[in-house]
Amino acid sequence: MRHIAIVGSGPAGFYTAEALLKSGDASIDILDRLPVPYGLIRFGVAPDHQSIKAVAKRYEKVAMTPGVRFLGNVHLGADVSSEELLHYYDAVVLATGAPLDRRLGIPGDDLPGVIGSAAFVGWYNGHPDFADLAPPLGQPDAVIIGNGNVALDCARILAKTPAEFVGSDIVAHAFEALGSSEVRNITILGRRGPQQIAMTLKELGELGRLEAAAPLVDPDDFPPAGTDAALDPGQRKSVELLRGFAATPPDGSKPRTIAFDFFAKPVAIEGDGKAERVIVERTALGPDGQARGTGQIYALPAGLVISCIGYSSPPIPGVPFDEALGRYPNQDGQIGDRMYAVGWARRGPTGTIGTNRPDGFAVAEAIDSAFPPGAPSSGRDGAAGLDHLLALRGCDPVLFADWQKIEAAEVAAARSGAPREKLVRVPDLLKARDH
Ligand code: NAP
Repeated sequence: MRHIAIVGSGPAGFYTAEALLKSGDASIDILDRLPVPYGLIRFGVAPDHQSIKAVAKRYEKVAMTPGVRFLGNVHLGADVSSEELLHYYDAVVLATGAPLDRRLGIPGDDLPGVIGSAAFVGWYNGHPDFADLAPPLGQPDAVIIGNGNVALDCARILAKTPAEFVGSDIVAHAFEALGSSEVRNITILGRRGPQQIAMTLKELGELGRLEAAAPLVDPDDFPPAGTDAALDPGQRKSVELLRGFAATPPDGSKPRTIAFDFFAKPVAIEGDGKAERVIVERTALGPDGQARGTGQIYALPAGLVISCIGYSSPPIPGVPFDEALGRYPNQDGQIGDRMYAVGWARRGPTGTIGTNRPDGFAVAEAIDSAFPPGAPSSGRDGAAGLDHLLALRGCDPVLFADWQKIEAAEVAAARSGAPREKLVRVPDLLKARDH
């Protein structure tokens, strides 16, 4: 029997487990530092995108397959070390994602009111680390930095009315705070232009259908329409949509605007003890397609600044880490002897949920060739060894059956029309497990 530990129970972890099950002869432990499974599905995917979250049903099947265990509330680096996992398991797969915000690295980026998207998204999605975030919503101006889908998520969540959250699983603290939000002017800053956005069509389209907010795009930001032909088809459609927004400016019937400020690079955040404005430099595209400052500077009022400029993975003691890349250096998923990375921990924070599937399958194949199913056992202890160690350390793992109790409690507590009311604090999650 092959013993495999997967660290991280998000999409990359579960797709890897699913792939390993196909070749069989594997005992698979999926560890997570939180007492709940599904990682990015629970804490990253927007609460109003329930159809994307439905993929958790597929992961549930994997978790309930004989030979697979979920062990939540087990923290690699605190409860167990990477060396210990390598001692007990034939292969260790890091599926730890990229949960840390990249810093803007400009003066004032540490002022109160400047929030990274991992924190803001974690707050409205009930991540225990961000339950007390309290973003400043009692003022009119929010600036969102970045032109990717996370920036769109943040803008849309800030712009929605309570009625537009029906059917979502936005947590109560965020639902209430957003319901009384005074934010009116949402500006999305892109350091490059409309043809360089990292946003996708479906997500952009949602901005055109909001009840109380309208998108505002400056027609002068576009190069001649003929140049769109050089874009790939998906990007071309997104740019066409933006051109449509530019052609139909808000008519004033909606109280909120989501303004796209292209060719706009933040150079500082200023304020008296808290964020009050973003200092922006106008850019132009250089011959390499990158943004170049033009020296033209202006200020945008901003009591709330959300930087959506990408994520990095957490360094883990005993695991090589590339500071510049913000992840574990690896060759096709192999970090070192018997240690692998999948998903965002492997390739950085790019792609959709589905991108993790081939990634997990590729690493499962590598494990299959290093440890062929049916080969004589290595003699490593696997689950028994880990269980013994965790018991010695007083670590209290949450198993999948425990999670199902937590889930039942969350479903039972859902407000009308919502699929669940997430418990947002670890002690409350553990209490629900013990009931
Ligand atoms: P992303 O797609 O990589 O976008 C990051 C954005 O930040 C880019 O526009 C980038 O501009 C900008 N940026 C980076 N550094 C900057 C800086 N120092 N100053 C100003 N701007 C800066 O990242 P993301 O939005 O975090 O999304 C991560 C992944 O999750 C993506 O693959 C995304 O599609 C996916 N996602 C998907 C969905 C969905 O499908 N519904 C929702 C959320 C996220 P440059 O292009 O100029 O570098």
